Amino acid sequence: MLNATFCAQPPGSNAYLKNSLFATMQPFYFSLLYIQHSERRQGLILMHADRIFTNARLATMAPSHNGIGLIDHGMVATTAGRIIYAGPVRTMTADEITDCAGRLITPGLIDCHTHLVYAGHRAAEFEARLNGASYEEIAGAGGGITATVSATRDAGPEALIAASIPRLQALIDEGVTTVEIKSGYGLNEASELKLLQVIRQISATAAVDVATTFLGAHSLPPETAVDRQAYIHLLTKTLIPKIAKLNLAHAVDGFCEHIAFTPDEIAEVFRSARAHGLPVKLHADQLSNLHGAALAASFGALSADHLEYTDTDGVAAMARSGTVAVLLPGAFYTLRETQHPPIAALRSHGVRIAVATDLNPGTSPLRSLLLAMNMAATQFRLTINECLLGVTRNAAAALGRADVGALVAGYKCHLAIWNVETPAELVYQIGFNPLHQRIWSAS
Ligand SMILES: [Zn+2]
Repeated sequence: MLNATFCAQPPGSNAYLKNSLFATMQPFYFSLLYIQHSERRQGLILMHADRIFTNARLATMAPSHNGIGLIDHGMVATTAGRIIYAGPVRTMTADEITDCAGRLITPGLIDCHTHLVYAGHRAAEFEARLNGASYEEIAGAGGGITATVSATRDAGPEALIAASIPRLQALIDEGVTTVEIKSGYGLNEASELKLLQVIRQISATAAVDVATTFLGAHSLPPETAVDRQAYIHLLTKTLIPKIAKLNLAHAVDGFCEHIAFTPDEIAEVFRSARAHGLPVKLHADQLSNLHGAALAASFGALSADHLEYTDTDGVAAMARSGTVAVLLPGAFYTLRETQHPPIAALRSHGVRIAVATDLNPGTSPLRSLLLAMNMAATQFRLTINECLLGVTRNAAAALGRADVGALVAGYKCHLAIWNVETPAELVYQIGFNPLHQRIWSAS
């Protein structure tokens, strides 16, 4: 056992006891530590941890702090994969002590909106567009989402996993410890279930937490384009009940847009999700204002995503329901959009803002959450704190996760340790990955 003293207060003093234990520990963890790990030395109770990361700058993102909860001389202590203490440096014992040499520790990053499981790519389509082809011409030639659906349906599970892992690894390499992955390129029963099973397999083997979202309502499958109701029926009467029963998804998503599904159709999908105990999310108001944000809020959605055309009423509805606004600057950039999400209204109504990659083969082939933050700052004028909260605490809320996204006692010990001096460096540099170490555990 290593015994480290980093406390500014003299051990044994009343101030030491007050600051080190009673003022910071949550009751459950205090009790646990007291019973299992505390030791009396010279009349003191010393907390013991499996591992301590000390001599660090912390951005805790703790809900109790304003902003990002910056602590200049901080430490994180962990036992059995959970944080037992995060705060100013103090005296503890531990089996392993890591000196972070002044580096910045944030919670492990969370990418709360991706479509990273698919086959093929759309580079030829990208090139054709650069050479003047229109979306209609590309779609007419079997391109666009149809091309990805067709390639994904043809691919076996092993091929899909092999294609997806490098995309996931790129996110992990930048400090991501929780990622959301949507289905939605199968668009029939067998292929959607295949995608969800593939995501489950990835979740079981990859060193990252995975939140799985069923996005059967992504696009009308080409073969049922003339019978919309039959497809909605498949989603609501067959697939959602089956997925809920097999526990294959944590949430249900949809794409509410002129080129996808109407608000009435999405409401039908959401009613089925609610009946089967699954929370909902929505691709809302990306290309036009169909009042998708308000619709999502009326179902208590975890998040409404994109939001370029959301109006003030939609923002107010999200504020009332606690729905998180997930901004996707990679899609905004790729589509060369000019309509900005209603940032000022989101702020004034107190809606929590998250930022994600929207990693997908068509509108956002973006494998970098760090770059997504830079894009959110540069394009949408989010502040540094908004960007950082958007890939940690608020991204966790967008997934309905209550034990990740902050450095708080009781939360999972998911850390990103960065070779930077200030949090702003994570946002402002482009094509720069300063990750020193990522800590993730399956517990
Ligand atoms: Zn998306």
